[in-house]
Amino acid sequence: MSLPFGHLTSLPLLIETALEQAFNSVLITDALFTDDGPHIIYANQSFCRMTGYALDELLGSNPRILQGELTDRVVINRLKKSLHDEAYFFGSTVNYRKNGEPYDVEWNITPVRGTTGQVECFISIQQDVSSRNQSQRELVMLAGALNCADDAIFICNRQQKIVFANQSFEKLTGYTLEEVLGKTPAILSTNTKDEQTDQSVRRVIDESVPYRGIMRNRHKDGTEFFVHQSISPLALDVRSNNYFVSISKDITQRIEERQALEEMALQDSLTQILNRRGAELMLGSCLDESSLKQRPVTLAIADVDLFKQFNDNYGHEAGDKVLVAVAKLFEASLRSQDIVARWGGEEFLVALPSADMERAFKLIERLRLKVQQISLEGLPTITVSFGLAQYRLGEQLPQLLKRADAALYKAKHLGRNRVQLESHRGDE
Ligand code: GH3
Ligand code: MG
Ligand code: MG
Repeated sequence: MSLPFGHLTSLPLLIETALEQAFNSVLITDALFTDDGPHIIYANQSFCRMTGYALDELLGSNPRILQGELTDRVVINRLKKSLHDEAYFFGSTVNYRKNGEPYDVEWNITPVRGTTGQVECFISIQQDVSSRNQSQRELVMLAGALNCADDAIFICNRQQKIVFANQSFEKLTGYTLEEVLGKTPAILSTNTKDEQTDQSVRRVIDESVPYRGIMRNRHKDGTEFFVHQSISPLALDVRSNNYFVSISKDITQRIEERQALEEMALQDSLTQILNRRGAELMLGSCLDESSLKQRPVTLAIADVDLFKQFNDNYGHEAGDKVLVAVAKLFEASLRSQDIVARWGGEEFLVALPSADMERAFKLIERLRLKVQQISLEGLPTITVSFGLAQYRLGEQLPQLLKRADAALYKAKHLGRNRVQLESHRGDE
């Protein structure tokens, strides 16, 4: 066998040179447990560097000189037992450098037997793992910090597999960390396809363009929720192994509030004409303008006759169709400055600016006749009763409405399908 390092003529010399220069710290002790043993009989340069002791300070000493307050007694007792049992040992604890500085050490000890089979010494390979442990502690600390965040956070790898999710994520989605690890965020998808969002998310992965937007997600229990979502690429390292951090803020409540606000908006969702609120707003300015310009306004309240029968005999949907047809007809038949609104249920409101009672009666009478012409398949003729009242200067809307309502009541009383004018001032 030819040895490397030609000038080293023997294997022991080669081994010693190799040990001296080894990256790991190597320590050899004797196997004497008396006389304050075992004693250090060899330490390499790396060991001296790690501990801060010079070789001659170490030789003859017991390795316990490295131990201190934070050294784990349980590990040391296990170590002692291994030595006595002449068994292999592996462990980690805190040791101290000569200057008193603690460091995390990870080490193993192997008993070395001589030719007789007797354990002659112990060889120990040691490593200062302080910085590795510190990194691990920092990771635990960061994960802890992420777990404190109110926002749901998860991290995906390039294959879109979830590699981390915080506690808020578990709370928001109903899935535990174990359930989502290795899964893709598709587990949160709803059935509603959103091409635009899908494309934006693909751009984060393919082009590292961060995404911010609103997403609809599904909870483990099937309910849907809305999040304000940001997805950012995390280019980590040497292996260019990209990760993606996704932070979601639950905005379901905000969306619901918005939907409620939309419902409170001015349009009736069934007929697409103004709703009562919208009508009130428009009427306010219409009456103000009429007062200002001294122009008449006449108001009509319309109520579908025996509407309940459409619902009862043909179903609620048929009733809805009737309402839509009447609304469409009103809108189509009146002028753009007129106000047409669904006042509630099967009641409509029509305001005719610049029309006095006589003119309004003609317009509305024409409207009444047109309603009769509506033909909806399978449904009987639709008729509507109207009550008309003309705005009196200085009065408030409720007073005007009251008179129109009274006229409507009279129209119903007199047999329906008719336009009834308000009573004269004197007969109220
Ligand atoms: P009248 O001629 O005296 O006005 O009789 P009517 O049947 O029209 O009057 P009633 O007030 O008894 O019935 C109105 C019905 O309208 C009761 C209600 O269930 C129904 N309704 C209210 N809003 C809607 C709706 O949006 N769609 C449908 N399909 N029905 C509605
Ligand atoms: Mg009614
Ligand atoms: Mg009715």
